[in-house]
Amino acid sequence: MTMWEPQYEAMPGKELKCLQLERLQQKVRDVYERVPFYRTKFQEAGVTPEDVKSLDDIARLPFTNKNDFRDNYPYGLMAIPLSEVVRVHASSGTTGKPIVVPYSARDIDIWANLMARNLASAGVHKGDVIQNAYGYGLFTGGLGFHYGGERLGATVIPASVGNTKRQLMLIEDLGTTVLACTPSYVLVLAETARQMGINLASTQLRLATCGAEPWTEKMRAEIEAKAGITAIDNYGLTEIVGPGVSCECYLKRGMHIWEDHFLAEIVDPVTGESLPYGQQGELVLTTLTKEALPVIRFRTHDLVTLYPERCQCGRTMVRMSKVRGRTDDMLIIRGINVFPTQIESVLLSVEGVEPHYQIIVDRERHLDDIEIWVEVSEAVFSDEVQALKEVEERVRAEVNSVLGISARIKLVEPRTIARTEGKAKRVIDRREL
Ligand code: ADP
Ligand code: ZN
Repeated sequence: MTMWEPQYEAMPGKELKCLQLERLQQKVRDVYERVPFYRTKFQEAGVTPEDVKSLDDIARLPFTNKNDFRDNYPYGLMAIPLSEVVRVHASSGTTGKPIVVPYSARDIDIWANLMARNLASAGVHKGDVIQNAYGYGLFTGGLGFHYGGERLGATVIPASVGNTKRQLMLIEDLGTTVLACTPSYVLVLAETARQMGINLASTQLRLATCGAEPWTEKMRAEIEAKAGITAIDNYGLTEIVGPGVSCECYLKRGMHIWEDHFLAEIVDPVTGESLPYGQQGELVLTTLTKEALPVIRFRTHDLVTLYPERCQCGRTMVRMSKVRGRTDDMLIIRGINVFPTQIESVLLSVEGVEPHYQIIVDRERHLDDIEIWVEVSEAVFSDEVQALKEVEERVRAEVNSVLGISARIKLVEPRTIARTEGKAKRVIDRREL
């Protein structure tokens, strides 16, 4: 299987480290000079760009968090003028202001190359027909895979999300060989195909490149069996670039992180201390080449392990395990990120609703399913059934319009949700991850 950029993907370790250090030093100087947020944070921490003499010195720099993006909305973290920005993406489904990510022309060019690397490492090549069922729009998945596929020289079908029956028709009629979508959606496609009497095994489809949400080896086995294809994992996040941070090679032994562009560290999620390779911890990423939105030491909150051993595929780049959990309480419901606190503020905006609730997440026929149990006031509860129905409908509509998720709402009597003395258990996640 050919590499897209072998000169980088298989770069000898020592050379790679030199390249990383050179790029890191440059980026640190850039943000210090151009982004007041970083300059202030560095000054508070008592560090200057000159203090970064080795890769290990990165540990002296302060972390960046999701909140820093919110606090500097929309363009506060940008390192180039807006007139040099050729595209802007934003994160999905959060309350209030999204996380905004601008790209320069060079950023877009590098991103397309990284996505071509992703696809090539998964085993996709010119001649393949990629049906891209990631969402097109502000979300990075759609356009990310789109330009990566074109860069690779493959044929791209910009199907976007949803409309499962049409997706199946396209697979059958257009000679689709590769699917790009979330892992849960591959299973939906496979099940719908079975119900419609379509035999996916008799189509050209052979591979799915999946990501944007956590999934297990068990789920991979199910996808591969049900759809008769190979399923490859890839990882990314809006703040860093979108997809294109790391991807499995066809050997499926962890996702190679494209280390010439992203510096990966593992830290103890509680103390923030660096942890060695091989130990599970929180992934922290620094962008080494991003122009419009360079990010220093971003706390991803994703729990992973890094494996530095050389891979049989010939790539030297470090591999990360599947994401094994999160250090915060962020839920990913059908690809939309939500925090329980956001659900809480929506619930409490509805009159008659009490601040006692529980969120139950499950995976029903491979799709995330969310049910919210919420207590209502005595007055509402003793009212007529019709009044209760109205409150229920209002809560459902609010959750849907503000957070973009459709949840089942169950109103319960006052004092029925268990109270705890310590931290309330707001979320019951029954999904097997
Ligand atoms: P996207 O959904 O485009 O990947 P977001 O910024 O909306 O980007 O969400 C990023 C988060 O999604 C990551 O921090 C991680 O928790 C999760 N995620 C992305 N890809 C994967 C993956 N392959 N496996 C597990 N979790 C993933
Ligand atoms: Zn490999």
